Amino acid sequence: MVKTELLFIQDSYLREAATTVVQVIDNAVVLAETIFYPEGGGQPSDTGRLDTAKGTAMVIQVSKQGNRILHHLEGPLPAVGDEVFMKLDWDRRYAYMRMHTAQHIVSRVVYDKYKAQTAGNQIRDEYSHIDFAPATFQSSDLPGIENTANEIIEQDLPVIIEIIPREELAERMGPDRSDLTKLPSSVKQVRLVRVGEYDAYPCAGTHVNATGELGKLHITKRKSKGKGTIRITYELDKPDKG
Ligand SMILES: [Zn+2]
Repeated sequence: MVKTELLFIQDSYLREAATTVVQVIDNAVVLAETIFYPEGGGQPSDTGRLDTAKGTAMVIQVSKQGNRILHHLEGPLPAVGDEVFMKLDWDRRYAYMRMHTAQHIVSRVVYDKYKAQTAGNQIRDEYSHIDFAPATFQSSDLPGIENTANEIIEQDLPVIIEIIPREELAERMGPDRSDLTKLPSSVKQVRLVRVGEYDAYPCAGTHVNATGELGKLHITKRKSKGKGTIRITYELDKPDKG
């Protein structure tokens, strides 16, 4: 069984690292370790490059196939056993990290104010959206949501990752913050992403170290998707430090 060590789980700021090729499948490689996040949980795949003895191959897409993480390449294909050097397209990834932490905050704000659960989300680098259901809040509620989210961001709360037993989840998150029945029963240990003492939510995605890195949040759109689902779209201004 080929199992890739997920370096981004421990350190989402790791931009480059050396590893070896353990499998080649068509134009994709499986690596012993990876810094590349595979598409999942509303967060798109990372991109970047692999420097190899044969030259540089571009990592154009990273996907999960069972337990395998496939790095789809464009360029010279390395062979099994080759040493390669991974480099992340960092600007793109960092945008996703900021957007993803922002998503957790907005989801929490809306849950606290309107008891609306997050039914889905899509992270992008320029703008992202979250679907809430069942939800009834109105356009006139958006400034209040935006203000509360920005208050949390400005507190520069630390974002802390914890691995906890599944049984502790409900208690840590609040009773109906999320539908835990969606979590496969095979999952015994859960990765909890905590925004200070403000929020805790199970998530495998990549996040910033502190909320101050998000800058100012703007909610730009509210759209009813029918059947009690409301989609809100948001953007982030980079923080003006230095
Ligand atoms: Zn998440």
